Amino acid sequence: MNVYDSGKIAACLVRLGYQQTGMLEIADLVIVNTCTIRAKAEQKAFSFLGRLARLKTKKPGLIIGVGGCVAQQEGEKILRRVPQVDLVFGTQAIERLSLLIPKIEDKRCRIVDVGLMEKPDLPDAVPDRLIDDPVSAFVTIMRGCDNFCTYCVVPHVRGREASRHPDRIIKEIGDLVQSGVKEVTLLGQNVNSYGKKEGLCSFANLLSRVNSIDGLLRIRFTTSHPKDFGSDVINAFKTYEKVCDHIHLPVQSGSDRILDRMNRKYTRALYLDKISELRDNCSAIAITSDIIVGFPGETEADFAETLDLINTIQFDGLFAFVYSDRPNAPAMHFKNKISEDEKRKRLQAVLALQENVTRMKNQALVGSVQPILVEGVSKKQSSGRFKRPLTTAQWTGRTPTNKIVNFYHTDSRQRRADIFPGKIVRTRIEEAYAHSLWGEPVGLKSTTGGLKGEESYAA
Ligand code: SAH
Ligand code: SF4
Repeated sequence: MNVYDSGKIAACLVRLGYQQTGMLEIADLVIVNTCTIRAKAEQKAFSFLGRLARLKTKKPGLIIGVGGCVAQQEGEKILRRVPQVDLVFGTQAIERLSLLIPKIEDKRCRIVDVGLMEKPDLPDAVPDRLIDDPVSAFVTIMRGCDNFCTYCVVPHVRGREASRHPDRIIKEIGDLVQSGVKEVTLLGQNVNSYGKKEGLCSFANLLSRVNSIDGLLRIRFTTSHPKDFGSDVINAFKTYEKVCDHIHLPVQSGSDRILDRMNRKYTRALYLDKISELRDNCSAIAITSDIIVGFPGETEADFAETLDLINTIQFDGLFAFVYSDRPNAPAMHFKNKISEDEKRKRLQAVLALQENVTRMKNQALVGSVQPILVEGVSKKQSSGRFKRPLTTAQWTGRTPTNKIVNFYHTDSRQRRADIFPGKIVRTRIEEAYAHSLWGEPVGLKSTTGGLKGEESYAA
């Protein structure tokens, strides 16, 4: 979501006459778009602001802005903590940036704009934004959250849930596709409740409309909340050919007692039922999840249930976090906090268990042929890890199940023209690593069909 918002901020600055630079030292204006989901994210934001403050002592004309969730949470306290900051703008103030920045330029005043409306208007008919990735783009379909999980800061800094009108979303994706984008990731804190409050269409209906956009090849979405994850969306994996075979379905804990204390509103049994329904409907589906370890009051027995759930489900990947207290989130006042040492130990246990599963799942793909949407040249191109000659390009892309595949391509002029960002290339998987796969392209004469099944890409 911050990537999406940063694109809107960047477009606004360009409209005001600024140009982007990769060199911090020569910038006249720097905006830090912050995250506060865990304590560490907030610490990172403040440490970067410290660096900017030092820069400003050498360059007094520098304008420093702080946006995003830390700005929303801390408001004018940021001005006191970092006196070099000129502007603090909250999560609903991005649309006002084009008014705020000229004021600071003209009057050199300091501004805090962190209003949070109960019913935010969503003025972004189709937002103007800069995108970094020419192939794959995020599209926010809703903002805020009404779920109030007891550990979570999001409802307090992003406000109440509000869905964008489907026509605007479709228009935005249509425009992105016109500019060359092939894959979109639809974003919301709980996409399964999309449109319910406003009486717009359901999320499954939205998927159906996005699926019919010509030229779009792949659709992803995140995040799904298990309590609202219904059969209509589960069926979408089968019904809509552009919807990729991957679901991120955060479970957080395997213990019903902890799930209840987290206010997640589902049980372990319900979560397992959803997983079975998903796998019955779409055998190829890759499932990833989030786990919080060391939630206040999490006993050894509760934690053992989490490990058991991970073992039972065999996720394709897992993001695991140590619990951290967040301002305004009720769990910060819960008793029986777990020590930092114990939280670290539990985190290591989760990661070690999952690492084996991920490796096995990756290994099982060796020998299969996968349609890879090429994103660009791999970052490892220059690392020499695969010891290929320099006349070969090392490309990177993803399977529909969201696994990263790197592959090389010989420097023959004819074949090189067959691979470019945005192209779907059939690739035989040859080696599996902990976090990626290595492949070899096959049947390069195929065209980008936009369908997810391997058989749709016959050479
Ligand atoms: N809306 C999504 C999650 C968004 S936050 C959902 O409901 O699934 C992303 C992840 O951060 C969460 O799934 C959770 O695992 C983690 N997280 C959120 N608050 C946290 C906290 N206080 N401490 C540790 N992890 C947290
Ligand atoms: Fe936070 Fe829960 Fe909302 Fe996700 S659903 S953003 S975890 S309150």
